[in-house]
Amino acid sequence: QLSGCGPHRFYHRDPETGKRLVLSRMFQPQNLREDQVLSLEGRSGDLTCKSQRLMLQVGLIHPAGPGSYHLLPYTVRALEKLERLVDQEMQAIGGQKVNMPSLSPAELWRATSRWDLMGKELLRLRDRHGKEYCLGPTHEEAVTALVASQKTVSYKQLPFLLYQVTRKFRDEPRPRFGLLRGREFYMKDMYSFDASPEAARHTYGLVGKAYGSLFRRLGLQCVRVQADVGSIGGTTSHEFQLPADIGEDRFAVCPGCGFSANMETLRMSQADCPACRGPLTEARGIEVGHTFHLGTRYSSIFNAQFTDAQGKPCLAEMGCYGLGMTRILAAALEVLSTEDCVRWPGLLAPYQVCLIPPKKGSKEEAATELSGHLYDLITETLPQLRGEVLLDDRTHRTIGNRLKDANKFGYPFVIIAGKRALEDPAHFEVWSQNTGEVVFLTREGVTEFL
Ligand code: ATP
Ligand code: MG
Ligand code: MG
Ligand code: MG
Repeated sequence: QLSGCGPHRFYHRDPETGKRLVLSRMFQPQNLREDQVLSLEGRSGDLTCKSQRLMLQVGLIHPAGPGSYHLLPYTVRALEKLERLVDQEMQAIGGQKVNMPSLSPAELWRATSRWDLMGKELLRLRDRHGKEYCLGPTHEEAVTALVASQKTVSYKQLPFLLYQVTRKFRDEPRPRFGLLRGREFYMKDMYSFDASPEAARHTYGLVGKAYGSLFRRLGLQCVRVQADVGSIGGTTSHEFQLPADIGEDRFAVCPGCGFSANMETLRMSQADCPACRGPLTEARGIEVGHTFHLGTRYSSIFNAQFTDAQGKPCLAEMGCYGLGMTRILAAALEVLSTEDCVRWPGLLAPYQVCLIPPKKGSKEEAATELSGHLYDLITETLPQLRGEVLLDDRTHRTIGNRLKDANKFGYPFVIIAGKRALEDPAHFEVWSQNTGEVVFLTREGVTEFL
């Protein structure tokens, strides 16, 4: 249940110094008041939702420009964990990871007419020779041209499922809600190439299931709804909507037959289900993922072909599948956090455990040694917690003060190794933030509990 996604990537000690991971060394501009956060964002109207305020307050992000943010160390850790989970889900259905350039030549976009169709959303630039480019908002053109360059693909090699996790650039008219709508953000985008429409539908279904599994593991109750194809094109599309009051999309679900759709695809006036005529219920959502069945819209333009069993060249049947990585993180914080305290999906928490030793003073040495031992015991006996335990070594502050901080930050587990633990071996206080449960345990009890 804990971490579970690639602890080997992290160190349980600082790789440079071999020292325990300590909070005092973290680069994390923290505990800003609301007015300080407002001044960070420039204009007061720019502070638009809870996750944005909290992420600024606890030092997860820092504004860099309109709609763009520095992602600070905790956020990068959480995003790396999310990427590992996404890798697991995509590779389980045959996804192969690639990495395509952000700088995308205009010719590619002219070929599909999207150089004009995308309008002002496309961030355009010229190089020193006057050649035009855009900064990739999505990669259908690039990936189809890439696959088309391979001239000898046999039907036996398909499907190809190519995906990447990279920065995307969109000149959003109103970037807001922090990471929820940036002008520069991380997306996981996958593109599938199949030998027949039936095979392409099968792949489409597999990706939908993988997305469902990802959101379940994150503990996010997303709803899959029928959606518009927009400027991406194709024939069928589904969005994954996370219900939230601040969501910019509205969607309808039919409690009777399970039909669900983005309101954009229905007549607004529509109050009854187009499938069973039962009453529809409406909700607001944050679009965290979007899948498209593309058919041959792109493969026909770039001539992405394969040879069939008879040796005849055929166009690949395509699909494309996006996940807003930075948006998922912010959306999760938006729905899980309280007004004052960040709460993470368990699998994404940047650190699983915060260990608080007592305040400086009498018996200090013994107490420091005690918490140090506990730190080492946890990271040595529980390999999945290596690199996941942070020691709050700011011992000039009281335990209560640091506990308040830890609560605000939302470490799933907080352990207090107070002075009483020196006298009573069963007096390590363990807080489970997500349930509010507090237990008193021995050192061995702590490792068992975790
Ligand atoms: P929206 O309707 O919110 O503008 P979109 O439909 O334009 O999103 P897609 O082209 O479907 O977005 O891109 C795939 C995914 O990328 C989206 O489902 C969303 O999770 C994410 N995404 C899109 N735009 C942004 C953005 N400006 N900031 C952060 N994530 C985004
Ligand atoms: Mg958009
Ligand atoms: Mg949309
Ligand atoms: Mg979309």
